[in-house]
Amino acid sequence: LGPTVCVGEILVEIVATTVGEGFLKAQPLVGPFASGAPAIFISQCGRLGGKAAMVGAVGDDDFGRVNTDRLKRDGVDVSTISIDPDYPTGSAFVRYRKDGSRDFVYNIAKSAAARFGWSQTVADLINRSGHLHVMGSALSVASARAVIDRAVDIVKARGGTLSVDPNIRKELKLDEDTEHRFSELVAAADLLLPSGEELGRAAGVEGEADATRRLFEMGVKEIVLKRGAEGATYFGSQGDRIDAPAFVVEEVDPTGAGDCFGGAYLTCRRLGMSPQQALTYASAAGARNVTVLGPMEGAGTRQELDAFIASTERRR
Ligand code: ADP
Repeated sequence: LGPTVCVGEILVEIVATTVGEGFLKAQPLVGPFASGAPAIFISQCGRLGGKAAMVGAVGDDDFGRVNTDRLKRDGVDVSTISIDPDYPTGSAFVRYRKDGSRDFVYNIAKSAAARFGWSQTVADLINRSGHLHVMGSALSVASARAVIDRAVDIVKARGGTLSVDPNIRKELKLDEDTEHRFSELVAAADLLLPSGEELGRAAGVEGEADATRRLFEMGVKEIVLKRGAEGATYFGSQGDRIDAPAFVVEEVDPTGAGDCFGGAYLTCRRLGMSPQQALTYASAAGARNVTVLGPMEGAGTRQELDAFIASTERRR
């Protein structure tokens, strides 16, 4: 029915290599790596051989080219990534604390990443796209939100599908309008990809059983819950459930696991695989991506993931 489209921030990321120290001591910093949750997601779709396209913007600078060149190599259609002549490519600096949490310094609001909009080229893409993937966090960025709001209706009207990664921390309070829009999008999702507590946040009720039941009542068709090193679980609307144990890997950089997982799961499903098979590829994609530094450097092709699956043990 047409490519998978993702709309949102395209960034580069600079990563501290020393854990537990402030940025001034966390030397050396490495990068720039291509980043931005929507870009990571679509990169993994492209690498797995799914038809994929990205909507967003970069500046007219090297950071932007780091990203668009990378997505192009992954097979992603980048013709709807616009080049902003006035603002730089968005960026994020990240360092890791000893407890595994992360500190970010972002430049998104005043970058090209927050300054794109609807255009004829975007309309042409959306009019032939078969699937839209939405990150909850994009709803707070006016430019992305404006494109998503129009795109959802068009894609759904032409029989396309929608996936939603809530990607909104439990504590984050959205304004009333954004909260309402978030609930509408969750209800319209053919596939919901929450991680951890986002499940309860999206459902508006706590507890796995109650939350999944509520989400299916709202209209969601399929839920895959991500649990980091604990693995992932598929919930079908008929009460069916599949637990996917995580692969055993050494975690070097956790950033991007959820987006690689989601991009792989969705692409495998769109290529006709069963939830069980898609879960295996998705778990491999997430696990492989955490083994290397950089938010999407470990995203794998079908061959790379097959080799990873064949050579890596899974937790019991
Ligand atoms: P998010 O980044 O959205 O919070 P997760 O951290 O849950 O997502 O990661 C998504 C998936 O990637 C997990 O469900 C798991 O399959 C895989 N994964 C993530 N971290 C690890 C890890 N340390 N070891 C093995 N697999 C992992």
